[in-house]
Amino acid sequence: MIAFVKQFVHENDVESIQELEAKEEDDILVLFKGMELQGNVEYGSTGSAGKDFGGMQSSKPLAVIRPAVSEDVAKVIRLASRSQHLTVAARGNGHSINGQAMAHRGFVIDMKSMETRIEVGPTRKYADVSGGALWEEVLKYVLSHGLAPRSWTDYLGLTVGGTLSNAGVSGQTFIYGPQTENVTELEVVTGKGDVTVCSHTQNSELFFSVLGGLGQFGIITRARVLLQPAPNMVRWIRMVYNEFSEFSRDAELLVTREEGDSFDYVEGFVFVNSNDPVNGWPSVPLDANYPFDSTRIPRTAGPVLYCLEVALHHRKDDPTVGIRVEQLLGQLRFCEDLRFEVDVQYVDFLLRVKRAEKEAKEGGIWDAPHPWLNLFVSKTGIADFDRVVFKNILKHGVGGPMLVYPLLRSKWDNRTSIVLPDGDIFYIVALLRFCFPYTKGLSVEEMIAQNQEIIKCCNTNGLDFKLYLPHYNSEEGWKQHFGNQWTRFQERKACFDPNAILAPGQKIFPKNW
Ligand code: FAD
Repeated sequence: MIAFVKQFVHENDVESIQELEAKEEDDILVLFKGMELQGNVEYGSTGSAGKDFGGMQSSKPLAVIRPAVSEDVAKVIRLASRSQHLTVAARGNGHSINGQAMAHRGFVIDMKSMETRIEVGPTRKYADVSGGALWEEVLKYVLSHGLAPRSWTDYLGLTVGGTLSNAGVSGQTFIYGPQTENVTELEVVTGKGDVTVCSHTQNSELFFSVLGGLGQFGIITRARVLLQPAPNMVRWIRMVYNEFSEFSRDAELLVTREEGDSFDYVEGFVFVNSNDPVNGWPSVPLDANYPFDSTRIPRTAGPVLYCLEVALHHRKDDPTVGIRVEQLLGQLRFCEDLRFEVDVQYVDFLLRVKRAEKEAKEGGIWDAPHPWLNLFVSKTGIADFDRVVFKNILKHGVGGPMLVYPLLRSKWDNRTSIVLPDGDIFYIVALLRFCFPYTKGLSVEEMIAQNQEIIKCCNTNGLDFKLYLPHYNSEEGWKQHFGNQWTRFQERKACFDPNAILAPGQKIFPKNW
């Protein structure tokens, strides 16, 4: 009703709009009072629920709901379904870049506030974890049982439900697939307000829809995460290349070796061939006592260099680890003497980005805007991407890591909602921009423009690519993104969230579409 009245309010008539909004809030208050949630509701001052890690968008939700149980989530969705315009966004840890977890003048469900439950199953092969649990909480709990999830993200301050709604990618993905391939059962509250358990065999269409489903089909309240015995140590190694062709050849060699016959983690990144403290040589060494010796860089090197990053799990004092490492490295063509390595505890390896977070917070750049761009680029296009983007547009860096490493399509189930480029191998490219208070640094607007230029270049060069953690403002953009999967995605929406209540911040389906 209010949405209807608003159409007649002149745009400049701010007071009228404010009056309507106040009335809307009063109405909502009455509705919530009759609902008897076990959790609680916060109206008005909704703090961080209107912001995210990207720091480029803000919104004003009507209320933030802190659910205690799944039934609270269901009640809120059912309430929203009774209105013409109310929407509901699950908010994990708000680490989206473009407002994906926001619900302007809708309800934000703070998933982290649900009691964190992590329970190791009787066979020790899986743990049941709540959707709002952070991956670092999962790690700490299951490690105390000598176990660990198989597939990770680089940073663990993300929620289980948040990464499963996208994919969840890191250096183990080439072995186990993304995190979406490492869950066997979910409890989901659909857009119809039904609390449903689903798996490969039970309500399987919902299960696959929700994985990589950008929050469009249901809110994940519990996930069954596969586990393996945890190692206690990791040999962590970085090797430098000056030619992209050799870097990518070696990276592909490692990720296509027989299972169990390669490293346990393979990633890579591009860095600037200069002594720039953030973008250049100093970003490579793992141990301050062994700095980067730039005299070892071949004279033929261009504006950027490449680093292959690998890790091997082992038990403390395992005498064979050195032999296994040398066997694997023996076939690689990195620059001699530009190899760095340390032994660290498994938990410290997994929490490596947490240390970077601490430093970034101290430097004031964690809370500044982050115009990040993540792409999946097919193997056929990655050399062109290197030539046009890394060596040209980004030759001065992005003020943070520029990740690039290969993944295997065979490890991704095409029944999930994730879309990928064609071919057996594709690369993840992650441009993790930080805004520094340098005079020569780009402004946020310039970084956004540079992202757009990169996407344009990919299109004009005919590269086969998809955005990861996608963001579009038009239906046309989404249609192109999903390509021949668009109809399936629409049908899933019609089936599980027909009133388009969920995850409005993704801007895929307007309410009443
Ligand atoms: P939010 O940002 O809170 O939510 C993301 C989307 O999922 C929203 O649409 C939201 O409505 C929906 N959602 C949230 N919770 C649920 C739920 N329980 N059920 C259904 N839908 C839900 N990604 C990788 O793959 N690998 C990485 O290594 C990696 N590293 C990162 C490091 C940093 C510092 C940051 C900021 C991001 C990183 N990401 C990485 C991206 C990250 O996976 C996504 O941004 C993810 O969405 C963040 O999780 P979140 O819990 O903060 O989700």
